[in-house]
Amino acid sequence: MDYNSIIGHRIAIESLKRAVENGNESHFYIFEGDDGLGKRTIAKVFAKTLLCKEKNNEPCQICSSCRKFDSGNHPDFMEIFPEKGLIKKGVIDQVIRSMAMAPFESEKKVIVIDQAHMMNKEAQNAFLKTLEEPPGYMHIIFITSSAKNLLQTIRSRGQNVKFYPISKEDIVKFLLERDVDMEMANFLSEFTKGSIGKAIRLSESEDFFNTREWVLELIDSLVKGEKWKVFATMDRFTENKDNIQEILEIFLFWFRDLILYKTFQDSDLIINRDKKILLREQSFLDFEKINDIIEKIVKTMEDVQTNVNFQLSIETMLFRIQEEF
Ligand SMILES: [Zn+2]
Repeated sequence: MDYNSIIGHRIAIESLKRAVENGNESHFYIFEGDDGLGKRTIAKVFAKTLLCKEKNNEPCQICSSCRKFDSGNHPDFMEIFPEKGLIKKGVIDQVIRSMAMAPFESEKKVIVIDQAHMMNKEAQNAFLKTLEEPPGYMHIIFITSSAKNLLQTIRSRGQNVKFYPISKEDIVKFLLERDVDMEMANFLSEFTKGSIGKAIRLSESEDFFNTREWVLELIDSLVKGEKWKVFATMDRFTENKDNIQEILEIFLFWFRDLILYKTFQDSDLIINRDKKILLREQSFLDFEKINDIIEKIVKTMEDVQTNVNFQLSIETMLFRIQEEF
């Protein structure tokens, strides 16, 4: 694991490297940015660098510290994750106790708190004092997609490192290197909105592409008036309840593309570029109808998140796509 395996984020990485070169690494970092951008990977490479015995701006990969880090049992590295969406005070108390013990293998210790905003208020308050005066050997990295949920008193103590979505060109380039074909690489770069983690996961997921084919076929039969499909297909939605947001995004991007197609015929903004024939076939839908469907899909995305009756929400959406045709 090193910086070379990371796509994008050159500014963040350079600033971390420079801090190490100048010997002014902060004791408390807040890595902030959307999920799936690679914050955790960079935090781990940075941690590995801080622990490495060669003390360069990148891990040497061969010292005992680097090898222990890669094997996942470095005694001076700890990573904390939320459990059931929460990091409780009890866990932070343990972290603080372990921080008081001097490093064992390296000269430093590193603790990464993943999804740090999931610490409740008590946990954050318990951390505060330590963040004011951490032991000299201690480096703490908070990773968060929602820094606004951290207490202001915590935020003001951390050195903020911001992560921005990766450019679509970089994602396409990266996927092409991994033998994803051009049309798919384009589709994934748009669909994942700059999240490299998601792009990699989906590019390797046969399920995702099968699901996309299934959704697009379903939409096609609905807009062409096959009402019975609504009922015939319900089981598959229930089976895929865990991925429902992703499935609804396939719906959403499709109808958004349909508007683009009707307006421009051809456009670089169209995500489903490999399905232009299908877009043409469905372009008989008028703008008002498409906008109505889009509104309904967005509403369904909200509803399924707030646990409104799942089956009813989906069925209502499918009927909205189908009705009057
Ligand atoms: Zn090393």
